[in-house]
Amino acid sequence: MQSEYDIIVVGAGVAGGVFACSQKDTGRKILVVERDLSEPDRIIGELLQPGGLESLKALKLDYLTEGFGAQPVYGYTLIKGDRNFSIEYKDAGSAAYGLGLRNGKFLTTIRTELQNLENVTLVEGDVTDTIESGGRVTGVKYTDKSTGNQVEAHAPLTVVCDGPLSLFREKLSVPNKEVSSYFMGLVLKDVQPLKESHGHMIVSGDSPVLVYPINDNEWRILIDYPGTKPPRLGEKLKESLKKEVTPLLPEGMQQPFVTALENDPLQVMPNHKMKAQARHKDGVALLGDILNMRHPLTGGGMTAVFSDIITLNSKLDGVDFSDKKKTADAVNAYYLNRSRGVETINILANALYQVMIDEDLKMACFEYLNAGGEKSSGPLSILAGMNRDKQFLLKHFFRVAMQHPVDFVLRPAKQFRLLNKAVGIIRPILKEEGKPAVLDTDAGK
Ligand SMILES: Cc1cc2nc3c(=O)[nH]c(=O)nc-3n(C[C@H](O)[C@H](O)[C@H](O)COP(=O)(O)OP(=O)(O)OC[C@H]3O[C@@H](n4cnc5c(N)ncnc54)[C@H](O)[C@@H]3O)c2cc1C
Repeated sequence: MQSEYDIIVVGAGVAGGVFACSQKDTGRKILVVERDLSEPDRIIGELLQPGGLESLKALKLDYLTEGFGAQPVYGYTLIKGDRNFSIEYKDAGSAAYGLGLRNGKFLTTIRTELQNLENVTLVEGDVTDTIESGGRVTGVKYTDKSTGNQVEAHAPLTVVCDGPLSLFREKLSVPNKEVSSYFMGLVLKDVQPLKESHGHMIVSGDSPVLVYPINDNEWRILIDYPGTKPPRLGEKLKESLKKEVTPLLPEGMQQPFVTALENDPLQVMPNHKMKAQARHKDGVALLGDILNMRHPLTGGGMTAVFSDIITLNSKLDGVDFSDKKKTADAVNAYYLNRSRGVETINILANALYQVMIDEDLKMACFEYLNAGGEKSSGPLSILAGMNRDKQFLLKHFFRVAMQHPVDFVLRPAKQFRLLNKAVGIIRPILKEEGKPAVLDTDAGK
């Protein structure tokens, strides 16, 4: 069967869209099939860490963040009760800012670019299955939205990027997926923040609340709802949020929050922790949330995705797709080399969330970051995605739990409890993170 394309991309979200754009100078013929090309209104993917922005620059695609009101974010303000302090990206590495943006606007900009690229065909269609021949994926079947027809398309490589609610994850990988909590989101208008152009992380309640700018007059609020079951939407929930969350917010956010609660529907998304191991199959690669998810508290998802795109591109660079073994080897090398770019993002996101829902550890973390110097710039450099040194991350993680060595003598029970909790959090995360992203590492057979 003659292939009409070199690469088929399933899904024009953050991963598929940016990956396809990044192939613009390769001369490869690319088909992108996206289920819904209308502008989405989502609460996900709206804070891009400086490291993610640096990756977009490395891909020469940072212009995709321009023209729709994305806001520079220079750091975080942490709030606990009546105490607050700010930490700045500029103290944590070379890139001084990240971006707050509307996810839907970002995706529309990416998709408009795809429509303009000569080597890319973007169609609106629902991919219903992969096509396989002799154990390898040779293309996809999709329902074309404009005609309703079932269409078959073929390519030597299909990159599946169908996102967090992936249809193909079970078929193409062995996922270990858990819901850690849910985020409930609203858009706040006319906010007076404690600090302009800063993300606000409010850790005064039982679970964290995030607020950050997404355009020149709108701020996203994400309220964590712990547990594996979603909140029951309705007036009762809104009333309890009004009563319990409003007083935790800085004064200049309280009325905007109440107004948004009264006028807008709450949007809810599950927060997953998931590392899949791809079943090795020639002709297909997994990219984005289909392969890996982490708690969004640190806003690391897009930074991880862009790092993966850089890794995948470096392995696909110059590969002649008519050589099946070389293509399979390249995909396998991507799976085996991606962890260097994403492991610190994953570990920090999943560990920090657990720290922030434990009162002792949360307090210890707040004090540690508040101490300033390397105690704030070190962890922030990891969160920003500017520093991907796992040992450095672990050093700070354990120092949070052991920042007052004298407590081993003065309050040994409390100190050992803290340490035990820290070990209990980090050990399973490291074990999971240590698994390769592919099951069968012997590619190209
Ligand atoms: C609540 C929440 C908040 C988050 N906040 C942030 C943040 O602030 N910063 C950050 O960096 N990350 C954040 N993330 C993570 C980030 O959004 C994801 O990592 C990122 O969007 C993953 O990109 P993706 O392309 O894999 O998925 P998506 O961006 O969801 O794209 C998947 C695309 O595939 C399409 N699709 C699905 N199925 C099919 C099909 N069968 N056929 C055709 N098309 C299909 C979908 O329509 C969609 O367009 C957040 C996540 C959550 C849950």
